Amino acid sequence: MEENKPYWEGKHFAFYSNKACEYYPCHKVPEGQDFNCLFCYCPLYMLGRACGGNFKYLDSGIKDCSGCTLPHKRENYGYIAEKFQAIAKAMADQEQEDGQT
Ligand code: SF4
Repeated sequence: MEENKPYWEGKHFAFYSNKACEYYPCHKVPEGQDFNCLFCYCPLYMLGRACGGNFKYLDSGIKDCSGCTLPHKRENYGYIAEKFQAIAKAMADQEQEDGQT
């Protein structure tokens, strides 16, 4: 039903594919799959293990997202947009921890 469609579905602000990018596509995806570049440098990185993506932690402690395509899928715009509250909270918590508020 049309009324139940998410506000962002089919909108240009929710999808952008930069096929001229020197690194396109920066992650392997099946042939013909839409590739969203809007969230290049994933905004969920700072959520650590709570991002919901397919990450692994290297022995060095670095979070490795090379196996994750979550931010590049057209249908995940809503998932990422909804996580901005969690990002804002994590930043506020960090500032409080640092004694900046
Ligand atoms: S694992 Fe995926 S969703 Fe999580 S931060 Fe990395 S790219 Fe983003």
